[in-house]
Amino acid sequence: MNKPWQDKLRKITPYVPGEQSKDPDIVKLNANENPYPPSPRVQQALRAFHADGLRLYPDANATQLRTALARHFGLAADQVFLGNGSDDVLALCFQAFFCADKPIFFPDLTYSFYPVWCSLFHIPYRTIPLDDQFRIRPDDYAPANGGVVLPNPNAPTGIGEGLDFVRRLLDNNPDAIVIVDEAYIDFGGTSALPLLDEYENLVIVQTMSKSRSLAGLRVGFALASPALIAVLEAVKNSYNSYTMDSVTLAAATASVEDDAYFRQTCAQVVRTREQTARALQALGFTVLPSLTNFLLVTHPAAPAQALFDALRARKIFVRYFHLPRIDNHLRITIGTDEEMDRLLAALRDILAN
Ligand code: PMP
Repeated sequence: MNKPWQDKLRKITPYVPGEQSKDPDIVKLNANENPYPPSPRVQQALRAFHADGLRLYPDANATQLRTALARHFGLAADQVFLGNGSDDVLALCFQAFFCADKPIFFPDLTYSFYPVWCSLFHIPYRTIPLDDQFRIRPDDYAPANGGVVLPNPNAPTGIGEGLDFVRRLLDNNPDAIVIVDEAYIDFGGTSALPLLDEYENLVIVQTMSKSRSLAGLRVGFALASPALIAVLEAVKNSYNSYTMDSVTLAAATASVEDDAYFRQTCAQVVRTREQTARALQALGFTVLPSLTNFLLVTHPAAPAQALFDALRARKIFVRYFHLPRIDNHLRITIGTDEEMDRLLAALRDILAN
């Protein structure tokens, strides 16, 4: 029998991230992590960090990292907000900006954390179907809404849209906050950054988890008008003043200051992505055009779930989503050239049997 207090407990279905494994033999292509190490300057910053500094609370305003990011993007420091990974930043954005009674809009196929936050924060939402080509139509987001959030490039499709698309989305939504989740922007996408001056209701969210190889450090940030950043700060400071720890602040600042390394590793991931896409097509896969560090693929003769299992048996982890429209697709993160060679060899073998 239920105890009376059980009725008072929160019932929620959480977001489930890609499986993590400590087995060094595994080719891990399931969580869109970067296969290259972070900038060597991150290692130097960690080595130089004195534990004595941990006696004190970190800088709640994260001034050093904020300033480094503002400089990197050509913005003012009051246009930058930091959080413990972009999941933290997005969760705070949902609480700060989606307070209307009307539903917020996001695509039916998108980052599956969005509906979880809606459920956690009691935000009504409506999902808008992608078109037949898995693309987002900005005019579908014109009806009155409580806000808009979507990734560009989208995940898990990988498809990226240009500046005209974001402009259209913003012109369709002068009365709501539009959040563009640019988690994968550094792999060839077009950032909405140039539109920040023009649209006070635009919020761009980015992460250091993918393009800066810092998924384990947990750093995400929002770029927006000072008015919106002030609201984010107020919500954060009503919840946890110190989302960013001192070690993270030092290491992340070192990463931002090494632009050459950042560009070089992103370019390498893009090169490997294009090679892998061609090789997968040669094996009969349909590959969606990707501007990210992953590919969404399907094979006419080999069911995705069976391929997922067969790859797993060969210690190659990819991602399979049991979701309408993509339940015969696999999402494959771009690893090193060697890792992709191992994947392709395994697929050749599986498809031959
Ligand atoms: N947005 C999208 C679209 C993502 O795929 C992810 C990664 N799961 C995130 C945000 C969150 O990334 P992080 O919290 O590591 O910054």
